[in-house]
Amino acid sequence: MALKFITDENFKTGAKDKKILARFDFNVPMDKNDHTKIADTTRIDEAIETINAILECKPKKLIVMSHFGRPNGKVNPQFSLEPVAKYLAEKLGQEVLLTETALDRGIKTLLNLNESKIIMLQNLRFHPEEENNDRDFARILSTYGDLYVFDAFGAAHRKHASTYEINAFYKNKAYGGLLLKREIEALDKIVNDPVKPFVAIVGGAKVSDKIKIIDRLLVSVDKLLIGGAMAYPFLKAQGHEIGKSLCSDEDVILARRILGTPSKGKIVLPSDHIVSNTFGGAPEEVGQVNIPDGKIGLDIGPSTLVNFTDYLAPAKTVLWNGPMGLFENTNFAKGTLGIAKVLSNLKAFTLVGGGDSVNAVKLAGLSDKMSHISTGGGASLEYIENGTLPGIQALKFGID
Ligand code: AMP
Repeated sequence: MALKFITDENFKTGAKDKKILARFDFNVPMDKNDHTKIADTTRIDEAIETINAILECKPKKLIVMSHFGRPNGKVNPQFSLEPVAKYLAEKLGQEVLLTETALDRGIKTLLNLNESKIIMLQNLRFHPEEENNDRDFARILSTYGDLYVFDAFGAAHRKHASTYEINAFYKNKAYGGLLLKREIEALDKIVNDPVKPFVAIVGGAKVSDKIKIIDRLLVSVDKLLIGGAMAYPFLKAQGHEIGKSLCSDEDVILARRILGTPSKGKIVLPSDHIVSNTFGGAPEEVGQVNIPDGKIGLDIGPSTLVNFTDYLAPAKTVLWNGPMGLFENTNFAKGTLGIAKVLSNLKAFTLVGGGDSVNAVKLAGLSDKMSHISTGGGASLEYIENGTLPGIQALKFGID
């Protein structure tokens, strides 16, 4: 069964004068000092194309829904979707009416009023039933729309009521949005026969979080470049000194296992480092693989960056997930920003996934130089691991 998108003729003709219930991922980061200000609007901006495409079909109403933060099943004004509704209304140049809760008795009335085409349901996670994938909650949501559109790629790895169970009520009436389409098309270039040479760069802090993706990537990559704190368990497993760098015994065991497989020849590790005495301390260059006693490795060194650049130069497909160091501190950002710069100059399909590497690319002002920047960190990793996601499977095959 093929996945149907809103570009399908059945949707275009079927949506006219109907109520469309659409699930987006509006879980945007907020400004740390001002909880009403959106720090990064990308996820909302990326949904606009789908919203406009739905509106072009002249539906009676468009009911949009999303989760926002972690209110743990309780109403909490700090996690109100109000700033999102306001921003969306500005972007679209039309009213977006926010309901009090997703189960508001007034919603049925709103749906029958002529004014306000767009209604936004309040944060779905104010109700524990959302994360519990509750069928009755999904059924109530489904009473709001005749057709269902799923465009929440960033939440597609979750089996929640609005992303998964709801499909039980939309047999042959469920469609993917345009962001979902773009994400799937891009990720499939990594998952299905990537154009060779295929080089992946994996960084960040914990091996255990990314062990499955490393195993999966080692099957298809030509080279796997490992940087950030992720590299230290591998270096330690090889018998190198890593000083006081971040590294758990559990991660060393995982790294040792990977280095014991025939794929170990594909792994490239740092050969020099930027270190410091403390996490906030002054940067020092260590021009060798061993990190002296008492020092913390906080970035890849300049020779490593040159070495990684050489491996990336011939690549035709590149996947990047996770920073090369503690890049939030400019003293330790050179490796991460350097990788962003190298990728921006490649004649290759470049896919950046994972919150921190995406932030680094934005920080470097190079977002538009990448072939695809995934809006879903966890979702993009799970898609690469498994070739699909629960929310996509449910959309494709339905739920009994
Ligand atoms: P992850 O969520 O696993 O991708 O980890 C991202 C986090 O790892 C970022 O906050 C980085 O600052 C941090 N990180 C990367 N390299 C290092 C390092 N060498 N030492 C400490 N933290 C690091």
